[in-house]
Amino acid sequence: MKIVRYVSLMQRTSQALQRRKRTLGLVPTMGALHGGHLSLIRRARRENDRVVVSIFVNPLQFGPREDFKRYPKPLARDRSLCSRERVDFLFLPTGHEMVPPGFGSHVEVEGLSDVLCGEFRPGHFRGVATIVLKLLEIARPSRAYFGEKDFQQLTIVRRMASDFNLPVRIIGCPTVREADGLALSSRNAYLDATERAQAPLLHQALSLGARMARRGRAGVEIRRRMREALGPIRDGRIEYARIVDPTTLRETKRPRPGDRVIAAIRIGRTRLIDNVAV
Ligand code: AMP
Repeated sequence: MKIVRYVSLMQRTSQALQRRKRTLGLVPTMGALHGGHLSLIRRARRENDRVVVSIFVNPLQFGPREDFKRYPKPLARDRSLCSRERVDFLFLPTGHEMVPPGFGSHVEVEGLSDVLCGEFRPGHFRGVATIVLKLLEIARPSRAYFGEKDFQQLTIVRRMASDFNLPVRIIGCPTVREADGLALSSRNAYLDATERAQAPLLHQALSLGARMARRGRAGVEIRRRMREALGPIRDGRIEYARIVDPTTLRETKRPRPGDRVIAAIRIGRTRLIDNVAV
């Protein structure tokens, strides 16, 4: 596995692959890799000649009071996981190269960035879209892999790739979960034992919502029942819990198959998001 630290080297590597007609799969991550990331890497491995994993803790997507500084950075472990998964290139760009002094261009995906998580994390998706566009431009992959776990992010990246005619296929991958339903996330490490014990309620509430939707119940009723199901979480706060159209992310009153039951909650100091399909 080759470690690529410089943007210019990543660009040259990708150009050389294109000349030799090799396909390249990109898996963008912020590191602290877990089974969810590995499922994306394995899919990329199956579908492409070469695989690049990027690890970049994107400062633009964190709010001023968020966990940018304490975000876990187990680099040696990430490196050996990637190497074990037969990743060809591990791209580790520096903050200085990705967001140099004077950096001033941003991507705003209107209509999708300011709803759901965007209401609670202003500027978050602008930061995500901006850095994802840069990574796609630098690595020029044939395919890029994103988890459905971050459904709003996936929807926004798809919209951006389509709006800008980016020559890449955006591939959404199913959420990997713990046995009790909790979606794997680097932030689960922040949960203490009591919080961890209550965290599966999020997936249980979403599954309840999906079942009700399949039985033809109305959006408002489902929303209310999901809030009740999340009620028992001690020191918990619901940011949102609703059913949305998967492309517009607008709330649906009469849920249809393919809609997404989606929620964000806080347990203590930790923010958890998850979603399931109707
Ligand atoms: P992150 O490192 O949290 O930015 O995540 C990098 C990529 O992994 C994103 O596309 C996420 O959606 C995806 N991902 C994170 N957790 C999971 C999971 N539990 N299952 C599937 N994909 C995931």
